[in-house]
Amino acid sequence: MDCIFCGIVQRAIPATVVAEDERIMAFPDIHPKAPVHIVVIPKQHIESIAHLEENHSDVIAAIIYAAKRIAAEKKLEGYKLVFNVGRLGGQSVDHLHLHLLGGWAKPGDGKKGFNVG
Ligand code: 5GP
Ligand code: ZN
Repeated sequence: MDCIFCGIVQRAIPATVVAEDERIMAFPDIHPKAPVHIVVIPKQHIESIAHLEENHSDVIAAIIYAAKRIAAEKKLEGYKLVFNVGRLGGQSVDHLHLHLLGGWAKPGDGKKGFNVG
């Protein structure tokens, strides 16, 4: 399978890992769309939110908690958590991922020209 994010999990593709446990990995987005832009992924290859099954509940919870912890570590006062789903939803990498976006200087900066994907 030719999946960029599986390649990062396997350390075949380099990334600066900012959080990792048995279920998840997080690293900065290569093309950041906010001052802080981290991608949180399951280590397991799940294509998208549209491909989620009941037994994936734990991994989805782990992704959201990881994003919450990273946001706290980076002292983000407010942030956005975004799942792009499918091509029409702006998804370009077919390995489920949560975008953590934040670090804008002032309230309102994040609303101006904001777009993911
Ligand atoms: P999507 O558009 O699928 O929601 O988000 C995929 C994200 O992955 C994009 O924002 C893109 O910049 C990022 N990305 C694609 N390839 C790489 C890579 O090799 N390394 C990292 N760190 N990010 C990547
Ligand atoms: Zn994958």
